Amino acid sequence: MQKLRDSFNRIHDYLRISLTDRCNLNCIYCNPADSMVKKINRHDILSFDELLRLIDIFAGRLGIKKIRFTGGEPLVRKNVMEFFRAVHELKMKYGLETGLTTNGTLLEDKLLDLKKYGLGKLNISLDSLKPERFEYITGKNNFNAVINSICKAMELDFTPLKINVVVMKYVNDDEIIDFVEFVKDTNMNVRFIEFMPFGNNRWNRGGFVSCGEIKNTIEEKYRLKEITNPANFVAKDFLIENHSGKVSFISSISNHFCESCNRLRIDAQGKMKLCLFSTGEDELNFKDLLNNPAYSDNDICGLISNSLYNKKRIHPAAEELLKLEENNMLSIGG
Ligand code: SAM
Repeated sequence: MQKLRDSFNRIHDYLRISLTDRCNLNCIYCNPADSMVKKINRHDILSFDELLRLIDIFAGRLGIKKIRFTGGEPLVRKNVMEFFRAVHELKMKYGLETGLTTNGTLLEDKLLDLKKYGLGKLNISLDSLKPERFEYITGKNNFNAVINSICKAMELDFTPLKINVVVMKYVNDDEIIDFVEFVKDTNMNVRFIEFMPFGNNRWNRGGFVSCGEIKNTIEEKYRLKEITNPANFVAKDFLIENHSGKVSFISSISNHFCESCNRLRIDAQGKMKLCLFSTGEDELNFKDLLNNPAYSDNDICGLISNSLYNKKRIHPAAEELLKLEENNMLSIGG
């Protein structure tokens, strides 16, 4: 089987697919209610059939081993559970690992089916443990729905169950210890993510809290012990001494992990993103390719491999990223 390798010899075996750019929350750092980012026309979004063909190409011919579905909010997409059932067949055929990143608001009643379809690697985003603050951050009062989903996912033994927290100064940085205490006697892993700049999200240095600062705050109260990771994990994981829960740090800005990047992304309209922060040049457009009878699956494989050669060694600095007006998390999916 061919392996996807870039010009810096990084093997890419992890694909993240954004199923939609629509979301039912308006998180201030991702999808602010007054965002000027244009929504993708419904007809330009990759259809489920197109996505299944792409998964077949990536997993069957290009050595992709792991796929994560994200968005927007993937669970707002119509008939998404039928799609996941079809993905399960490809998962079994190729021995894929599959996962889902969700805001948890529409999750509770889908957990049993997700388990059945093997979408076991669940990341749930939750930026506050205080209902009013949750509403301030997301613009919606769905706090209880998310907590119910988390409880049910624990009951159903989803492992690993990861809670994603974007830390913002003066917004939720006073809840760092609360989150550690939320997971410490569970099998959950709380992952503190540095607030990343996108053209539409009003990022500034003043609101930024580095993973170093977050870790220092935790270590004033708890001893952390690093868990050694395979080289290409983006998160640094730690055990909390004498507890079962784990803490992780994702330091995309203060200490990027580009040298071990193994990720490719497909955004909601079918553009291949070599990097979360790629500037748009050299992007393959799968919507066009899949609908052009001149391109066989083999041709598409060749184009993917060639395109990967354009991947940059590292992503630009934070202030540069802010200038990329076109980039937004909703369409790319984080
Ligand atoms: N709707 C789903 C969710 O809420 O998890 C999936 C999509 S969301 C874009 C994926 C992840 O990206 C979430 O954990 C979210 O917190 C994170 N994210 C979005 N904007 C971010 C930003 N500006 N900085 C850091 N993380 C961000």
